[in-house]
Amino acid sequence: MAKTGMEDALLDIIHEFWGYTEFRPLQQEAMTAVLEGRDSLVVLPTGGGKSLCYQAPALCVDGMAVVVSPLISLMKDQVDALRVCGISAAYLNSSLEQEESRHVLREVRAGNIKLLYVAPERLMLEGMLSMLAEIKLAFIVIDEAHCVSMWGHDFRPHYRELQELKNIFPKCGIHAYTATATEQVRSDIAVQLGLNSPELLVGSFDRPNLTYSVARRADRLAQVCEVLDRHPNEPGVIYCISRADVESLSESLNNAGYESRPYHAGLPDEERAANQEDFIQDRVDIIVATIAFGMGIDKPNVRYVIHAGLPKSLENYQQESGRAGRDGLEAECVLFYSEQDTVIWKLILEDQPDESKATAFQSLQAMQNYCHAFDCRHRYLMQHFGQDLEQDCETGCDLCRGDFQKVDDSVEIGQKILSSIFRQDQNYGAAYTAAVLKGSKDKKVLANNHDQLSTYGLLKNESLSTIRNWLSQLVSQNFVTKTAEYQQLRITNSGWQLLRGEATLQLMRPAQASKSEKTKRA
Ligand code: ADP
Repeated sequence: MAKTGMEDALLDIIHEFWGYTEFRPLQQEAMTAVLEGRDSLVVLPTGGGKSLCYQAPALCVDGMAVVVSPLISLMKDQVDALRVCGISAAYLNSSLEQEESRHVLREVRAGNIKLLYVAPERLMLEGMLSMLAEIKLAFIVIDEAHCVSMWGHDFRPHYRELQELKNIFPKCGIHAYTATATEQVRSDIAVQLGLNSPELLVGSFDRPNLTYSVARRADRLAQVCEVLDRHPNEPGVIYCISRADVESLSESLNNAGYESRPYHAGLPDEERAANQEDFIQDRVDIIVATIAFGMGIDKPNVRYVIHAGLPKSLENYQQESGRAGRDGLEAECVLFYSEQDTVIWKLILEDQPDESKATAFQSLQAMQNYCHAFDCRHRYLMQHFGQDLEQDCETGCDLCRGDFQKVDDSVEIGQKILSSIFRQDQNYGAAYTAAVLKGSKDKKVLANNHDQLSTYGLLKNESLSTIRNWLSQLVSQNFVTKTAEYQQLRITNSGWQLLRGEATLQLMRPAQASKSEKTKRA
């Protein structure tokens, strides 16, 4: 098919089956790669419209397309959506009864299915592979392809088995799709799947309709309510790290007069599904969830995503916050973090195998650094994904809006903090150091005679939380590190340089968290 003919045919298809009138960025290129029968690796942010890139071409070619997908709920949603559009699709995974599976297999053999969604472990079964060898297989799609890479944030061992696909079906195009991939993950995906000179299509990671802001968590409920009050009667998601946090925050919100529903993997299946459905159908506006919520959920009108705890990586943050504003209209992403979150994540990540632990810790550090970024947050996120932004967002993040001010005497303040750490023999943690600098009458400070230190009360005009925040900034800029066991502050080589006046430092003044008790909603 000539290029223009191909474009027209695809436009006809997306119009006829989905009612769309134009392609989103890179969709046409991705579809063309499929139709040309070559391999491809497509990286588009959440909401970028990846599914259509392989669904539409599947309707233009002979035979059946296989889509490998990691999540059972995701497959069902996609297949249901396709059937609504009048497209013959089916899925095979462990949720099906034997008879249902047999029925699907019969339909596949009869050539009645255009798109078959399969879990990776199911696809790689011998019986399945030999059946696919007998029918007309059009192409293979690997969705959530970062799961194949150990460098990614969601490595799944079953995805590794997909390496064999290229040997088994050498003539069949393989198309890998993901929303999050750094350059390292990208090349790893291509290597692991044995892609043959793949067409590499990487969309822009910027989401200009999203605004980003970050604040230290002080009074969780009050801070969350402040955001909710900006969005009355609008749907939004609040992410927490643990199931217990989900339960407690959802309950506190309900007690404060907001109507929210919890969502986490520990809830009974029925309750979890009902809460999700109520949110999707706009019967409830607020869902409080762990990261178990969201993959594959396509709700276009989410107006805010609040993180009430630190995500474990920027990949996670990009994906979770990216669920806001899929309809292209303005939406808000707010992150509340605390040092404690890092400690919790480190405990959780400790259980990982050694190969992935180091990467996980690095990713966590990158996430912490985002909290203490200085420039545009849009730019920061894009740079993490190997892209750049031509100009700062101006109003799309707290930093560009000027919510934080640069501190003029940053070096002097940094030196005061470092001197105190030094005079405390580098034996104490952040809260204690802040108390000394504040000139606190804390019993422990007095018992240690640290009210006699020359650094005692040096920052008495600042709030404890501001001093703590500056300490975090010193950590994220590597002037100070914390010991693994007791979180004692230690001065790094750069810290010594700063003390000697040989290094520069820029601190930001944090926005003060609102301490006001929230009144109940009318
Ligand atoms: P992704 O998988 O990349 O996160 P989806 O495939 O779920 O994104 O698509 C996101 C939303 O955009 C869906 O609601 C989809 O129907 C819609 N969409 C995709 N392509 C187009 C298009 N060309 N025109 C209009 N809407 C589109």
